[in-house]
Amino acid sequence: MPPAVLDALRTTFGFPAFRGVQADVVARVLAGERTLAVMPTGAGKSLTYQLPSVMLDGTCLVVSPLIALMHDQLRAAEAVGIRAATLTSADDNRDETIARFRAGALDLLYVAPERASSEGFRNLLGQAPLSLFAIDEAHCVSEWGHDFRPDYRLLRPLLDRFPDVPRLALTATADAHTRADILEQLGIPHDGMIVAGFDRPNIRYHIAPRASTTQQIADVVADNPGAGIVYVQSRAGTERLAESLQKTGRPVRAYHAGLDPAIRRANQAAFVASEDMVMCATVAFGMGIDKPDVRFVAHAGLPKSIEGYYQETGRAGRDGDPAVAHLFWGADDFAKARQRIGEVEPARQLGERVRLNALGALVETAGCRRAILLRHFGENPADQCGNCDNCLNPPAATDATQVARKFLSA
Ligand code: ADP
Ligand code: MG
Repeated sequence: MPPAVLDALRTTFGFPAFRGVQADVVARVLAGERTLAVMPTGAGKSLTYQLPSVMLDGTCLVVSPLIALMHDQLRAAEAVGIRAATLTSADDNRDETIARFRAGALDLLYVAPERASSEGFRNLLGQAPLSLFAIDEAHCVSEWGHDFRPDYRLLRPLLDRFPDVPRLALTATADAHTRADILEQLGIPHDGMIVAGFDRPNIRYHIAPRASTTQQIADVVADNPGAGIVYVQSRAGTERLAESLQKTGRPVRAYHAGLDPAIRRANQAAFVASEDMVMCATVAFGMGIDKPDVRFVAHAGLPKSIEGYYQETGRAGRDGDPAVAHLFWGADDFAKARQRIGEVEPARQLGERVRLNALGALVETAGCRRAILLRHFGENPADQCGNCDNCLNPPAATDATQVARKFLSA
């Protein structure tokens, strides 16, 4: 790595060194090579485009699926002195942003994918030099992925209009099929993929059938004095659970997209500042939240996919200290999921079924949970991790699997 790059890492970002594959990704980007970086949540994907954006001439265009996420990123970039702006329907300073872009006064410009289809925007991009296209949450481009956004399909023509501008796609959540799809959809060569290790050895996984969810969650809360997140499937469910957890004596809040934005912000800020708060939330909570000392994550029902489970549990223990992830599931979760799959477009049903079965394998296994997770992400883990419920307490080999299999095949 050239000294100038390490210099920028230290002076601009204040980090002493790259983490994991960051250095490889940055080196490829600076060399102008098209790249897909598959790195777990919290691994530091943003740096891999932010650092090149301050080193290269021109503006780095960042495509990101959520306006809230963009605004978080914007604040973080501005805090370290990067010249950045967002261009979204929620911004009222669009003229100013456009003028800054034209004047070459932006290192980073965050846009929503639907911009890509507008002729005006394409013309605008031709009016100042571009350093890089960074496509965040790139799994959104894949119909096979768990979070398909049709707007991401509009990006390819835009990228192809600037064939010499390097492309960096970023994702945390891609199984092998989705990864191949991202490469294909975004025109990145197969040898342009860099995959980081997915293991989070400090997270202990526990998965159990549901009995009384409220009691089970209250027990998790009692056993874990640090801050934690409980994922609940419905908005109303988050508020009900928060209410009933009041009796644990811990500070408890709820978070879901239906809450007044001011309340949502206040609850999030309170959680980030707290050492012992329990946040009862839908999956709307967590993206873009930087709290290293979350000590537990509990799922009060089946997550949407293994990717979702990995991402949500991955919010625990980012500081590297021990953390625990609990999941409580029931037969009715699988029944509901199957019903939901029956209602999606036929073209997507196969992928959805494969994903549900992968979740089934995770919850039903009598073997190592971590091994199943890591194999899902294309790794080759040891058979036993020594830090999940099944490794710590091997179950009597028969019953649980048969029960679960019955749910899955019904
Ligand atoms: P991701 O997008 O992969 O989930 P982020 O880009 O949001 O992760 O980064 C997660 C956290 O890691 C941020 O707080 C960021 O400042 C920090 N971080 C990134 N790179 C480094 C590094 N090289 N050294 C120390 N901390 C880092
Ligand atoms: Mg990110």
